[in-house]
Amino acid sequence: MGKTDTDRGQSKEKAWLFFYKMEVDFVKKIAILGSTGSIGTQTLEIVRDNPDLQVVGLAAGSNIDLFEKQVREFKPRLVSLKSEAACKELRTRLADMTVEIVPGMDGLIQIAEMEESQVLVTAIVGMIGIRPTIAAINKHKDIALANKETLVTAGHIIMPLAASMGVSILPVDSEHSAIFQSMQGENKDRISKLLITASGGPFRGRTREELEKVQLEDALKHPNWSMGHKITIDSATLVNKGLEVMEAKWLFQVDLDRIQVVVHPQSIIHSMVEYADGGIMAQLGMPDMKLPIQYALFYPDRRPMAGKRVDFYELGSITFEKPDMETFIGLKLAMKAAAGGGSMPTVFNAANEKAVSLFLNRKISFLQIPEIIEMCMEAHQKIANPDVDAILAVEQETYERINMKF
Ligand code: NAD
Ligand code: MG
Repeated sequence: MGKTDTDRGQSKEKAWLFFYKMEVDFVKKIAILGSTGSIGTQTLEIVRDNPDLQVVGLAAGSNIDLFEKQVREFKPRLVSLKSEAACKELRTRLADMTVEIVPGMDGLIQIAEMEESQVLVTAIVGMIGIRPTIAAINKHKDIALANKETLVTAGHIIMPLAASMGVSILPVDSEHSAIFQSMQGENKDRISKLLITASGGPFRGRTREELEKVQLEDALKHPNWSMGHKITIDSATLVNKGLEVMEAKWLFQVDLDRIQVVVHPQSIIHSMVEYADGGIMAQLGMPDMKLPIQYALFYPDRRPMAGKRVDFYELGSITFEKPDMETFIGLKLAMKAAAGGGSMPTVFNAANEKAVSLFLNRKISFLQIPEIIEMCMEAHQKIANPDVDAILAVEQETYERINMKF
């Protein structure tokens, strides 16, 4: 018997429902804060390679040209740029598209909370990430976390909140992803030590006298990783490793005295976990952030990924050293801030953010970065358990202290 139009209509509807359901089941909807940056653009490369990822929200600072291209390509429903002027310009450029544009912190928070999004990728730089991250967790979004400054300063708020909301904080930072990967299938109670590897940055092996003369251009030349400017400078001062120790403490709930930094200049081992029996699990790979970003987005799956593989014959050997904390006092100060706890990591981080921006603007020398951090830490009256308002007030106070001198 031939099919009637009604039959055809019904089976069409069934097919549509089937594909709609497939989409609901299989398409992961994500929003990205910091889409024009190093992590943001690499996240979008992964979206390009995986049709079951869909971008529903995008936010960035001020790179309108790149942002316009991203919005045209990925067609998110809601987007944000830092200033109202930038958003107005974007509105004019995107007159032919239906996309909602909300500037500044309001935009970041609305994107973090988007009903249709499942995962928020926090690829923004600095403490500006705190409020949107909290907003997303409160709306039950999983967090693919690159923005380490948020955990360093507000880890005592973020981690318990995530646990109470049943939200996963999936690390994007390569070291933390390596630790996370090295913990799969293991009993967390049997961890004896986290071993965080560090390349040592472009100035490994230099003396303090030699560091006095280094220029911005030298500090921006990282030997192994291509990253945003702020984190590249943080890698040269070893402040980045200090921030990562604090990030690891919060993410994995391991005491500071069981976190060890190991300099490993080739950046092939991305970090390790030592267990109670002395066994050490490590994750190795080429230094390419796309792997940890993709792992966070598809965890626990490991999707195929193109790119160069580690060739052990070509590599020959890998080496290890103790970090030189007397020359790179940024790491020593980070350990001190971490041990102090409370608002001290906020002072450490805020002072570093400000000092790095002064260094990037050629206002201070390389060695003044840790000097400024130390000055701010010494002047600060610690608050034991700061809430978000107190954290942001300490950030302001630290900025003002630096502004008075520079
Ligand atoms: P980046 O400077 O390349 O990019 C930062 C992004 O944030 C840009 O899109 C910028 O427009 C946006 N942004 C900055 N201020 C903003 C504001 N006020 N409002 C809206 N958007 C704003 O930085 P990155 O290197 O991609 O690093 C991002 C974060 O990831 C940092 O916390 C960094 O420590 C961490 N991280 C980066 C790497 C890496 O390989 N780049 C590795 C590990 C961790
Ligand atoms: Mg890292």
